[in-house]
Amino acid sequence: MVKGRVLITGGAGFLGSHLCDRFIREGYHVVAMDNLITGELKNIEHLFHLKEFEFYHHDVSKFVHVSGELQYILHFASPASPIDYLKIPIQTLKVGSLGTHNLLGLARSKGARILVASTSEVYGDPTVHPQTEEYYGNVNPVGPRGVYDEAKRFQEAMTMAYHTYHGLETRIVRIFNTYGPRMRLNDGRVLPAFIGQALRGEDLTVFGDGSQTRSFCYVDDLVEGIYRLLMSDYVMPVNIGNPDEITILDFAKEIIKLTGTQQKIVYKPFPKDDPKQRQPDITKAKKLLGWEPKVSRAEGLKITYQYFKSLSRDELYQRDHKSFEGYIK
Ligand code: UDP
Repeated sequence: MVKGRVLITGGAGFLGSHLCDRFIREGYHVVAMDNLITGELKNIEHLFHLKEFEFYHHDVSKFVHVSGELQYILHFASPASPIDYLKIPIQTLKVGSLGTHNLLGLARSKGARILVASTSEVYGDPTVHPQTEEYYGNVNPVGPRGVYDEAKRFQEAMTMAYHTYHGLETRIVRIFNTYGPRMRLNDGRVLPAFIGQALRGEDLTVFGDGSQTRSFCYVDDLVEGIYRLLMSDYVMPVNIGNPDEITILDFAKEIIKLTGTQQKIVYKPFPKDDPKQRQPDITKAKKLLGWEPKVSRAEGLKITYQYFKSLSRDELYQRDHKSFEGYIK
């Protein structure tokens, strides 16, 4: 007996595809939607034979129609890596704003509960540490990250407005740096960058002096937190992330140890507006959802490294395997 139908936007992406797996496992019918700009069909090809799984190739910043009932909508469509926002800034803004509006409208017409993927980037380069949900953030709206950060901030505002004005059932998750199998090796983010460099026998590129920090959460932990938040009755934003904070320089050293590479660390310029520190305060998630991360960085990195090692030579050397030009409007 199928529990209900769930729409997952960005369903072919890193997080979206793991959510598809989780909802299929929980006994739901999953409708995945993706325009495949940064998502990849290989992430969900193992689900295509299931009658409980459908895939729509669609850009959610255009009008979204799904026939039949929907119980839940999870809006995870968006470029999510700083180099992607730089390549496709307008689409990044559109999917967070127009896309969110379309999906809120769809949720309303279906009587569905919607969970939107927000981000620790709403805190910008934070002046409060660790970041609690009450912190309003320190975002440069016109900097290189502004297109993502402001789209996600608008997304939160729009989602709350639909909740207060239309009584829509909404949930907002603020996701901190997450890693695991199915990240794109060339997406520019630090973990695939370092592991890709190690596998190709290149030096590891640390930006700035490497003293900036991040806190990395393994994807299975994140998915568990999202699932619990969706099923809870809490409408205000909730941080989901692993508070285990590390400097990027120490992280590079961990990757060198993990991969056994003989390469060295080289230093590159520090990107504009790159947050200098980031760590989630997860008091709310613990209290409201009974959630906390279970997978240590050592364990999670081992699994992720195995995944990257299993990729073909072609995938390893494809630096920019997707041409974005056709999509620029
Ligand atoms: N970074 C780095 N070398 C790289 C890629 C990223 O030192 O090859 C740094 C980047 O400057 C940032 C951190 O790693 O301080 C995390 O970057 P990422 O793009 O993964 O995500 P962010 O948290 O900045 O959105």
